[in-house]
Amino acid sequence: MGLQSGRLMRVKLGGRERTSAIVHPGVALRKSAKGRTVYTRTAQRAGQLLLEHYGERVSFAAAASLAADHIMEVGPDLVFLPSRDIDDYVDHSCEPNCRLDYQDDGRVFLVALRDVAAGEDLTFDYATTTTRAGVAAFPGWRFACRCGATCCRGEVGAVEDLSVDRLRYYASLGALAPHVLQRVRSLLKD
Ligand SMILES: [Zn+2]
Repeated sequence: MGLQSGRLMRVKLGGRERTSAIVHPGVALRKSAKGRTVYTRTAQRAGQLLLEHYGERVSFAAAASLAADHIMEVGPDLVFLPSRDIDDYVDHSCEPNCRLDYQDDGRVFLVALRDVAAGEDLTFDYATTTTRAGVAAFPGWRFACRCGATCCRGEVGAVEDLSVDRLRYYASLGALAPHVLQRVRSLLKD
């Protein structure tokens, strides 16, 4: 399944000029019962790059002192602060239709894991980029999940909390962030 990025383009959101993030024109924000969600306006194929996750990169301690939400772990003792952009609103699911793609230059993109129909909310599994160290620094990252998937774990937490079968499944899809892969490599060996 190759990555496709041909249709990504820079857009404006809320009248504010975007400086670094890019988003597919078939992806947008909408209001939902949960607040705001990111969804597909048009059908997308598996492997399509859908948007870029971005934000100022700071340490756990620096981010914790700000008490902000929409913080995402992106490396050992490293998070993205909220961008206040569309990427802040991609929801968690225990059976996600997207994954994060960490590129060699450190940029992080949301990629469709499977074909996605028009009108679907986009999701990734937050545990694929969250370690126990992250949950210790940000206790709010451990929260009850009501994603509705038949395999719902009931709680979102760290990658170390996933079953070995689920870890192998995500690893086979390239869905585990590099810093997360370091934490669970020993579990994936046998
Ligand atoms: Zn769930």
